[in-house]
Amino acid sequence: MARFIAEMPKAEFHVHLEGTLEAEMKFALARRNGLTLPYADVAAMRRSYVYHDLPSFLAIYYDGMKVLLQEEDFYDLAHAYLAKAASQNILYAEMFFDPQEHLKRGVPMEAVIGGITRARADAEKQFGIQSQLILCFVRDLSAESAMAALDAALPMKQHLVGVGLDSDEKGNPPAKFAAHFAKARAAGLKVTAHCDVNQENTLDHIRQAIVDLKVDRIDHGGNILQSPELIALAKRRDLFFTVCPTFSGRVKSEGQPIDVVRGMLDQGLNVTINSDDPAYMGSEYLNEVLVRAQAQSALTQQELVRIERNAFNAAWISEERRKHFLGKLDSFARTWDVEI
Ligand SMILES: [Zn+2]
Repeated sequence: MARFIAEMPKAEFHVHLEGTLEAEMKFALARRNGLTLPYADVAAMRRSYVYHDLPSFLAIYYDGMKVLLQEEDFYDLAHAYLAKAASQNILYAEMFFDPQEHLKRGVPMEAVIGGITRARADAEKQFGIQSQLILCFVRDLSAESAMAALDAALPMKQHLVGVGLDSDEKGNPPAKFAAHFAKARAAGLKVTAHCDVNQENTLDHIRQAIVDLKVDRIDHGGNILQSPELIALAKRRDLFFTVCPTFSGRVKSEGQPIDVVRGMLDQGLNVTINSDDPAYMGSEYLNEVLVRAQAQSALTQQELVRIERNAFNAAWISEERRKHFLGKLDSFARTWDVEI
């Protein structure tokens, strides 16, 4: 099964570039930028990665990205992720980034988008991996700060494919960003939003993301399994879900906890599997996450192929490119005698 997963052509949609910032690179960037980190070494830094909920994770995550200051830092970050992804047979990735956090430290938007864009072009030439970029609004910062980031990015919108919404959901419902999403859609960008699992008012947030933000995808979204009405709405809209089993694999329910991947598959929802913030989750990238998800949710080879088919169908790419990727997946399935 591990070999099957490793060899399968894959796509990834829910990966935060800042969440791929490995401890080794933090030390290297800190050295380059003349910063001192409060850890003796890489091992000590990794030992500090202890979290019990979303806010405790985010505190470490935002602290970690302070070493990203120059255009070349963003280049190195994106290039390292894309090299790793290509080595795992990921043919295509759409990557999140959180520009507000960088603007706050005085890094210009041009350096952030410029560095990542240069890395995307080089990685495609070097490794054949194709990718696009999704600007995420940091939902626990002000609506004004999010609008300023969007306005700073729109002149470079040719380097973006869409906008998303991430960070601490508590008290920050999707509706807070309705104007931002409308503006992004009017500019021709695609839209997606995090609905983290087991959050306050989660079903209402899922509904707002679908109805008010008019999303094409929901990142996480596992609690939808508690609402037959929302499941029906998601199916009518043909929505895709980017589930990250490491962080959001289980929904707390009154009875037994619900296995999100299994539940979505059984409900006929378009589920995809993604790595989220691999550097902060034991350096488990997509292959490792899929191996874990396969065991956790007892996925068959046929279901794994179905999940990757969903992934290529979720991609914000031309139909011609989609056909090309799906053809590769089909021929892989035939090689392994998996019925498609
Ligand atoms: Zn996420």
